[in-house]
Amino acid sequence: MIDVKCLASGSTGNSYAVDDGESVLLLEAGIRSKKIMTGYLDLLPRVKGCLITHEHQDHARSAGKLAVQGIDLYATEGTFGRITDIDRPYRKHIVRIGEQFALASWIILPFETEHDAAEPCGYLLYSTAAREKLLFATDTYYIPNTFRSLNVIMVECNYSQKLISQSVAEGRIPESMERRIERSHFSLENVKDFFLANDMSSVRHIYLIHVSRNNGDPKLFKREIERVSGVPVTVL
Ligand SMILES: [Zn+2]
Ligand SMILES: [Zn+2]
Repeated sequence: MIDVKCLASGSTGNSYAVDDGESVLLLEAGIRSKKIMTGYLDLLPRVKGCLITHEHQDHARSAGKLAVQGIDLYATEGTFGRITDIDRPYRKHIVRIGEQFALASWIILPFETEHDAAEPCGYLLYSTAAREKLLFATDTYYIPNTFRSLNVIMVECNYSQKLISQSVAEGRIPESMERRIERSHFSLENVKDFFLANDMSSVRHIYLIHVSRNNGDPKLFKREIERVSGVPVTVL
């Protein structure tokens, strides 16, 4: 079984690790590298690389430092183009949307996401060791693809339409920010639609990630997604 670990999730930083018992992939480099290196200390000998979805600080802050520590980085060309502090070019591995590649015990397919970044993507991961499929999708206002036979889903559930409208009405965020969020992040309503559009029959666990502090409600999101999907949900 694929094991999911998380050190941070949300707009202040993201760092996850997925372990299939044979090798480990880091997902995102959005917190200080020291935290990553100590937080996953026991996993480090089996870490085969770090996949990055896009260049925003909360996802790529420590990419350069991880490269110095000897960790290979995987991202699209557009994303690498915006991360300027990687001075170990041989640690950079360009991935292409729609082109599958193998890395240790994993087969990885980058797919398109919709976000205000250069060339953002999500990752579909198949573990040949655990024989499980995991979807990792964050910072996207919708997901154009549908997926089959997923076992584990890690998906952004940033805000709900009701809560974000409340935040604007109460003056906590300006309307311009509401518009930006609606064109760049996944809402509870869209996450629900995504689950309804996808075959959920083999999904055993859902992790909701990147929940907004201002416009999110972890307890409500967990309840709603469990109701729609019929699958246990953990909010990271
Ligand atoms: Zn983000
Ligand atoms: Zn972002």
